[in-house]
Amino acid sequence: MLTMLSISIVIPVYNEAPVLPLLFAGLAGTLAELEQAHGPVELVLVNDGSADASWDLIRTQCQRDARYVGVNLSRNFGHQRALAAGLESARGEVVISMDADLQDPPAVLPQLVAKYCEGYDVVYATRLTRGKESWGKRITANIFYRVIEKVSGVTVHKDTGDFRLMSRRALVELSRMREVHRFLRGMVPWIGFPQTQVFYDRGDRQAGETHYPLPKMLALAFDGIASMSTAPLRLAYLLCLLLFSVFIGYIMWVLFDHFVYGSELVQGWTSLMSAITIFGTIELLMFGIFGEYLGRTYEQVKQRPLYIIADVERSATSPTPTRSEPS
Ligand code: UDP
Ligand code: MG
Repeated sequence: MLTMLSISIVIPVYNEAPVLPLLFAGLAGTLAELEQAHGPVELVLVNDGSADASWDLIRTQCQRDARYVGVNLSRNFGHQRALAAGLESARGEVVISMDADLQDPPAVLPQLVAKYCEGYDVVYATRLTRGKESWGKRITANIFYRVIEKVSGVTVHKDTGDFRLMSRRALVELSRMREVHRFLRGMVPWIGFPQTQVFYDRGDRQAGETHYPLPKMLALAFDGIASMSTAPLRLAYLLCLLLFSVFIGYIMWVLFDHFVYGSELVQGWTSLMSAITIFGTIELLMFGIFGEYLGRTYEQVKQRPLYIIADVERSATSPTPTRSEPS
């Protein structure tokens, strides 16, 4: 499998100082293997506004090893936008994104590239096991993948995070998607082209702490659903239909009770109150959902840049790009 390629590996970094030395050491063997089999490899480390020594460590590494490129964002833009910054700065024919914490084992990288050589444009690395993740995280992840598949109409592979390979042409298409609420796990399947998966055992974070505790995971999940589908808006019809049938039934029963059994009509304080409360709550809920989509539309029409790059660190001996830069 001696196909000459240039490979970029993009790694977003946010407060990962404890893990970075382990990452650099952990990558060394695989990088040599990839270089030998395929050709030049570039590592793009995006510092997403870390408050610790991450950027200093990245800069030092760039000076030490010409394959490393550091991209320093002007502040913390969040994981998905940091990824966008890295993917758009990468110059390889093949671009792989992975986490900094070694949960995505470097040993899987050659498998991803092998699938590319078989003709796939997108190769997802899917976890067979999820390491020591909490029950809460596992259960929510499970529900989430089911819901998103149903509502979005594209195949979002279960247990597949942002560890994936993309061909240059897939990346060009992804770069045309300028949505501000980004959910790459749904956007990449949407692109199409031949896509496949490889499977691996997910390890545990090697150092530092997760940036995705449960509440932030839930926010990402809602972001995913709202950015992939308008299903929550359609919820209004369903709820209306359901309540309409319940209350038609109730009114028919009241009339029947009155005309057949002659019961008084001035009754039913409880049912009246429940009707008002239920309708009120549902109306508020629907307003909330409309508002959410309106807000997203507003943020999108502002057309702000997705990220801002403050500095780029590249060693003076850094190899020149093998691909012509997009104009
Ligand atoms: N990350 C980032 N910006 C953020 C949060 C996270 O660039 O605002 C990076 C982080 O450094 C890591 C990756 O995104 O490389 C995934 O984060 P993490 O490992 O904390 O998530 P988990 O694997 O626990 O879901
Ligand atoms: Mg992680």
